[in-house]
Amino acid sequence: MLQKNSQIEPLFWQKKSLMDMNDAEWEALCDGCGKCCYRKYIKGRGRRERLYYTSVACNLLNVETGKCSNYLERFSLEQDCTKLTKKNLPQFGWLPQTCAYRLLYEGKPLFDWHPLISNDPNSVSRANVLIKNGIHEKDVIDWFEFVIDEH
Ligand code: SF4
Repeated sequence: MLQKNSQIEPLFWQKKSLMDMNDAEWEALCDGCGKCCYRKYIKGRGRRERLYYTSVACNLLNVETGKCSNYLERFSLEQDCTKLTKKNLPQFGWLPQTCAYRLLYEGKPLFDWHPLISNDPNSVSRANVLIKNGIHEKDVIDWFEFVIDEH
């Protein structure tokens, strides 16, 4: 069961816009899939530009659970770790298609497996949303060998 938080209004993701959510609601929106913590890269220019997703994970990510192993110190430990905010969300077009922030930004509903709906944090893993066979960046030489389909 998810912990109750008095700052979180029931069904807030259906009632409020992203901009109207408070900090606790904004944080609760994350389904914890960890997919944004896998490396991506862009190749080509102009019309040939293409975004590649990989199974190469940030060194801090627990690839089994999809959780950051040092959430509190992540910004000092990983230079390119970026906080997703209401302001920068429009620039994060690379977020996975299942990401709750992306879904709401695009006017789509959350999936039934989202913990806010299932009331069970394990439902994300059961729905096979986590990236499989993740490998840490420190163990990889060529990211291109770990390109995966868009997620
Ligand atoms: S991809 Fe979206 S929902 Fe998944 S961990 Fe990242 S911010 Fe949270």
